Amino acid sequence: MAVNVLIVDDSAVMRAMIQKTVQLSGLQLGEIHQAANGREGLEALEREWIDLVIADINMPVMTGEEMIEHMQASPNLKTIPTIVISTEGSQTRIDRLQRKGVHFIHKPFSPEIIRDKVKNVLGKGVFHERSG
Ligand SMILES: [Mg+2]
Repeated sequence: MAVNVLIVDDSAVMRAMIQKTVQLSGLQLGEIHQAANGREGLEALEREWIDLVIADINMPVMTGEEMIEHMQASPNLKTIPTIVISTEGSQTRIDRLQRKGVHFIHKPFSPEIIRDKVKNVLGKGVFHERSG
């Protein structure tokens, strides 16, 4: 099974870093899509088949948290595994996201942390054999 990933972050540099990390993670990767804010993220989710969302919180136009709320109100989108990568310091906000089933990674992150989190969320079955 190839996994289609959507990366949502307002920083093009951060999107590129996350994309590179995902590409090197050993994940059986299908397509990678990028969006610069929550609104664009929702548009991509309507347009493409996405198996995993990796999203920032703080973005203009629509935040990651608002995007996740929209996803959870949609029968088609609410089951898509979502990992938030953010500098978010508010434990209250992190707890609130985690109660919604969202997984959380703090910025700055290491490639290993992203790989391990994706493995936790999707299972080892979607990784190539020797990815550790
Ligand atoms: Mg941001």
